[in-house]
Amino acid sequence: MKVTAIGAGYVGLVTGACLAEMGNHVVCLDVDEDKIRILNSGDIPIHEPGLLEIVQRNVKAGRLQFTSDAAHAVQHGTLLFVGVGTPPGSDGSADLRHVVAAARSIGRVMTDYKVVVDKSTVPVGTADAVRAAIREELDARGLPDMPYAVVSNPEFLKEGAAVEDFMKPDRIIIGADDEQATLLMRALYAPFNRTQDRMQIMDVRSAEFTKYAANAMLATRISFMNELALLAEKVGADIELVRRGIGSDPRIGYQFLYAGAGYGGSCFPKDVKALVRTAADNGISLKVLSAVEAANERQKRVLVDKVVERFGEDLRGRRFAMWGLAFKPDTDDMREAPSLVIIDELTRRGATVAAYDPVALAEAARVLGPRDDVTLVKRAEVALQGADALLIVTEWKEFRTPDFDAIKAVLKAPVVLDGRNLYEPKLMKALGIDYRGIGRRCLS
Ligand code: NAD
Repeated sequence: MKVTAIGAGYVGLVTGACLAEMGNHVVCLDVDEDKIRILNSGDIPIHEPGLLEIVQRNVKAGRLQFTSDAAHAVQHGTLLFVGVGTPPGSDGSADLRHVVAAARSIGRVMTDYKVVVDKSTVPVGTADAVRAAIREELDARGLPDMPYAVVSNPEFLKEGAAVEDFMKPDRIIIGADDEQATLLMRALYAPFNRTQDRMQIMDVRSAEFTKYAANAMLATRISFMNELALLAEKVGADIELVRRGIGSDPRIGYQFLYAGAGYGGSCFPKDVKALVRTAADNGISLKVLSAVEAANERQKRVLVDKVVERFGEDLRGRRFAMWGLAFKPDTDDMREAPSLVIIDELTRRGATVAAYDPVALAEAARVLGPRDDVTLVKRAEVALQGADALLIVTEWKEFRTPDFDAIKAVLKAPVVLDGRNLYEPKLMKALGIDYRGIGRRCLS
């Protein structure tokens, strides 16, 4: 089939590449000329395991192209996936500027039947806005009878495992009220749906809502555990034991029950905000979700609280080693990363930070800009030199079994503040390390 992916970011590029891998002919369109230049040079602009190989293979096979030419891209595809960003607006609502711009660019140049697929995470009712924007452009061109359909197909991939998630989805949600469009979507996704039927066809509004409901539920589990972790510390319980204790109940399950330094990324923070906003616009106050967001804001500062508890409010002259900058492992995405809040809070109190991340250094440098109080280093050990304590912020695998003797030898004092609960407090105590996790029993 002929497919166009509008927006070549985490979602659009993975969608385009994986659809090409299944034999479709895909053109990826982006307004960011730099991204297109990188893609056309044989590289990819993001870190995503397995993606580069798929992109290169399909470009070579002639099934995948990249362009900033909207007319060429729109005319190519029968199915046009819109995977542009939907960042939070100042009032928390999803900013639909890019979605509407993409819709207009379709309406301005389309010359035959198109299925416009909203893959971006968009509030309920957005498909109507997309339909109207295309209609306006067609009317302006004197083409009021040009046929098209708008369907919702929210994406559930996780950064860091995006290719795997797209290739083997837990579910494929399709919101459509047009028979022809539904048939085309079924055919397109058939190769991803072979072992068992994972396709759920529903009305457009329910599909749009499903994506927000999923992210809101996951964010709720994290904030719930983070709050319990705060209490566990106070009452002398260990949240890791509690996690296993409750996770063994199949009604609860083990997934997404880890206490930590707060959630970040491009999805949970903005989607929780947007759902709260949608509710407010409809006269409903979502009390649980509002608390989820507030708890997460507090949680992003929890490692800083531990620093202050150990070293005092005035951190002038202190230096901290930070392991992990990306909002989670296996990605270079720094959007809403807790590391940014921690860096701000520490440096505001006069400290300096030496930070290491396996893949997010370039993105961190871009986001942080040039500054004297933060040094980005290329090796984990280098960050430790002369530091008062080590802070673990992202649970990269390479941090799981470090050389603790070397850490002790290089730090000014053996203090490890672990925002991802990677180590065992008992082992740390035996090694003579002053170790504090999140909701762990403090044994020092
Ligand atoms: P992104 O910022 O990585 O990519 C968006 C791309 O769209 C950018 O490259 C941008 O230049 C391009 N763009 C913007 N306007 C355009 C236009 N008019 N025409 C063509 N290109 C345009 O964003 P992302 O992380 O891929 O997220 C995209 C959407 O998917 C968001 O709504 C997000 O909530 C949702 N989503 C993201 C993830 C994720 O893990 N990143 C997962 C599921 C859903």
